[in-house]
Amino acid sequence: MAENRKKFLLDENLAKLAKWLRMLGYDVAIYRSINNEKKISLCNKERRVYLTRSNKIAKRKEIFSRMLIRTEKYDEQLLEMSHLLEFNNKMLSSRCLVCNDKLQKIQVEKIKDLIPKYVTDNFSDFKICRKCGKIFWNGSHYAAMKSKLKNLLTT
Ligand SMILES: [Zn+2]
Repeated sequence: MAENRKKFLLDENLAKLAKWLRMLGYDVAIYRSINNEKKISLCNKERRVYLTRSNKIAKRKEIFSRMLIRTEKYDEQLLEMSHLLEFNNKMLSSRCLVCNDKLQKIQVEKIKDLIPKYVTDNFSDFKICRKCGKIFWNGSHYAAMKSKLKNLLTT
């Protein structure tokens, strides 16, 4: 099922939305400094839906999946595209919010020198991004994001 999930490509001005989509576990690409033609061809090649705030891009004649995002705040944007999304507990926090790579579980012993002691004392479920080295855990920030998404998408 997870393999059939939508994948997205976003314009740079949707970076905040990208972070929230990755939190939901979606594969979200944002490329800096590549032109629109290249983005469109990547959408087709990688089967991504192009999310854009640009009317001009949304109306282009080429064939590609796209959605025009009309609102400005990320929570409204999530609602706007909620028909494309599913809230799946198992997928939450499976991707790096920064670079989109899949996160891998890591034992606390291996990272305990890299993060504050109160974190290792209070949390257990650690994941690491092999690309950027960022470590994630189910802390209060995570919990807040999760409940926000749940409220937005499941009510
Ligand atoms: Zn990363």
